[in-house]
Amino acid sequence: MLNHRAVTLLFLPLLAVLLGLSLYREFSLIFFFIALVVFIVIVVYGTFWIGAGYHLKALCAGVATEREIAITFDDGPNSEITPQLLDLLKERGIKAGFFCIGKNIEGNEDLLRRMDNEGHIIGNHSFSHGIMFDFFPAAWLMQDLTRAEQAIAKAIGKKPLCFRPPYGVTTPHLARAVKGLYYTVIGWSIRSMDTSIKDDNKILKNVKRSLAPGAILLFHDNNPRILHIIGELIDFALEHGYKIVGFDKLLGIKAYA
Ligand SMILES: [Zn+2]
Repeated sequence: MLNHRAVTLLFLPLLAVLLGLSLYREFSLIFFFIALVVFIVIVVYGTFWIGAGYHLKALCAGVATEREIAITFDDGPNSEITPQLLDLLKERGIKAGFFCIGKNIEGNEDLLRRMDNEGHIIGNHSFSHGIMFDFFPAAWLMQDLTRAEQAIAKAIGKKPLCFRPPYGVTTPHLARAVKGLYYTVIGWSIRSMDTSIKDDNKILKNVKRSLAPGAILLFHDNNPRILHIIGELIDFALEHGYKIVGFDKLLGIKAYA
């Protein structure tokens, strides 16, 4: 699998040689630009697609031999939607994963305790979740993740070991930060696009079609439309013989220290 170190070690000397040869008119400059574009495309792909494992290793699916899937929700807790979602999950006896944003926890600690008491798994999804989050320096990222970790630990008395990068974007700085804090990085194999696709039926159709053993599904519990979508999706998955488990069980990892 491609990783940033190997790609950089290959491309930087190659770019230098092509530039040097073009300056001595041995080669056209076009070869330098072609190599530069290929390098940029690889880096952009590796940065914006968490499943590429380019900057760091992220667990994005379980083994495909068991008919088990995990449902995860990002960006909560949300004082209006999360309680209704927890009711819905409780009615159906489903355990899910919640990647919480640290700044949303203040005032919603009872919701985290409820998640924990009802068997759901809580992971770190950063404290600030800013749009450029993943591009900050490693020391800043470590501080931010630690702040979110402390907010979670204060609410449920347990230190989370799993982290999901905001927007699924990864960088060399983020790789250093999660390594320094011993986090397991969790991605997804099915992105519902519930915050961008406006048609609930289209979301359901896409997710149902992609459903496969070992899948980790990504939704957002700050989106009110989720309530209708999740109920129908759970019914569909159970009818088709899937068992819905926590992502820790699906991946065979520890969720807390
Ligand atoms: Zn997020």
